[in-house]
Amino acid sequence: MLMGRVFVSVDMEGLTGAVSPSQVLPGRADYERFRDVMIRETNAVIRGAFEGGADGVLVNDSHDGMLNLKIEGLDERVELISGYHKPLSMMQGVDRGFICAFFVGYHSMASGEGVLSHTMTGIVSKAYLNGVPASEGVINAMVGGHFGVPVGLVAGDQYAVSEVHTVCPDAKGVVVKRAIDRYSALSQSLSRVEEELRGAAEAAVKSSASLRVYSPPKPITLTVEFTQSSLAARALYAPIARRVDGRTIEIVGDDALDVYMRFRAALGLASTARDPDYG
Ligand SMILES: [Zn+2]
Repeated sequence: MLMGRVFVSVDMEGLTGAVSPSQVLPGRADYERFRDVMIRETNAVIRGAFEGGADGVLVNDSHDGMLNLKIEGLDERVELISGYHKPLSMMQGVDRGFICAFFVGYHSMASGEGVLSHTMTGIVSKAYLNGVPASEGVINAMVGGHFGVPVGLVAGDQYAVSEVHTVCPDAKGVVVKRAIDRYSALSQSLSRVEEELRGAAEAAVKSSASLRVYSPPKPITLTVEFTQSSLAARALYAPIARRVDGRTIEIVGDDALDVYMRFRAALGLASTARDPDYG
């Protein structure tokens, strides 16, 4: 029986052992080490997906400039999307053809206690989906849901996993480390994490037919609180949202993809108002 393909979005801050910017930013001291950890966690879920019966896997590099995953180290059976300029960002490539999505190396939301927590960019202090605080994982689950694709697996620290579970309770959660602080954690060994990821991926694919798709009630309201008011003001140079208060805008719509694209546009516009000294 043909099962279908699995979509894998891979970030870096939620990898086991990762606790510091020096481990996840290109050019920094430990970045190359953590590129290898990223490959190993990714290959583990790929292995599990195929063992569960998937007949294809698409991997989307979803961290920073999105040039982290080395194709020469990746499982030979998959395809890889690399590069930053892509409309769906961390969810580029997802469409109706996938049986489920995996989120690997995911981190928790801005203003949270999780390791290296943030939401999309440093200029967002908090995002809310229909009034509930939302992480990148939650927003990406909405994008997958737009295409009928449920989240089958989420891996990261305990906060990253539980945040996604608030909207995707069926997703297999793999807590690879326990955050102690935004910059410290108790991590599992890489080989143990690989085995847990492989097993969870296999189980997720086997149960994919019963996974619930996340689709937030309509109208969808995506609220974005910026770190300072000038960013919110600049985001409204295009008629894509409304101002809620000094630092906050609200994007409302019935179509999840339209809401998401306006969110991306708002972040892009807002970032042009960032001051190099005062933020
Ligand atoms: Zn990242």
